[in-house]
Amino acid sequence: MMSDIYRQFSEDCLLVASHNDGKVKEIAALLKPLKISIMSSKQLGLPEPIEDGKTFIDNAVLKARSACENSKLPSLADDSGLAVSALAGRPGIFSARWAETATGRNFQKAIYKVHREMGQSEDRSAEFICALALCWPDGHIECFQGKICGTIVWPPRGTTGFGYDPIFQAIGDNVTFSEIDPIEKQKKSHRAIAFNKMVDACFNLPDG
Ligand code: IMP
Repeated sequence: MMSDIYRQFSEDCLLVASHNDGKVKEIAALLKPLKISIMSSKQLGLPEPIEDGKTFIDNAVLKARSACENSKLPSLADDSGLAVSALAGRPGIFSARWAETATGRNFQKAIYKVHREMGQSEDRSAEFICALALCWPDGHIECFQGKICGTIVWPPRGTTGFGYDPIFQAIGDNVTFSEIDPIEKQKKSHRAIAFNKMVDACFNLPDG
């Protein structure tokens, strides 16, 4: 059984190592069935570490480790992003940074950058990728990754979700992640896939 080789989570409180409200909201919804109390790095005023890893997993690990060291609480970090085939996987781990402006993050700017850089490229395929790192105060870490394949659409459509959702349509859908019912996104997103792997491995859920 998968959970045999992973550390089991037995604490009743988990710190979500993120300052991104959209992401914290989705993570809180995914963690709800686990019935553990949740706090975020933003709530505790923890510093945001420099994300200088080379992969999603590297960055998730450094964020989880930093939050855990600063709070002394078990911490869960998500590093995620959009990898566009025609852009050789960019923005990838730079997905949040493509939105940076002098006055904060502006995802309309990032979305237009994807559109501009893709130009007339025939290959519209892309993936959303999510890496999760769960870190305990003694330094033990478990990592999981999920991804969902889709297509970049133009113009952007929809009003829900966050980040690049308005231009991403999952394979088999005819609506973007910003048009889909958020409950549906929660069931199939890259984040949900990584979460399901983590829950199977580390959280011993009671039946039903
Ligand atoms: P980070 O993991 O906080 O460095 O940032 C990941 C960035 O990837 C987010 O700020 C979004 O721009 C993008 N991203 C990750 N997951 C999603 C998603 O589910 N929908 C839309 N954009 C996402």
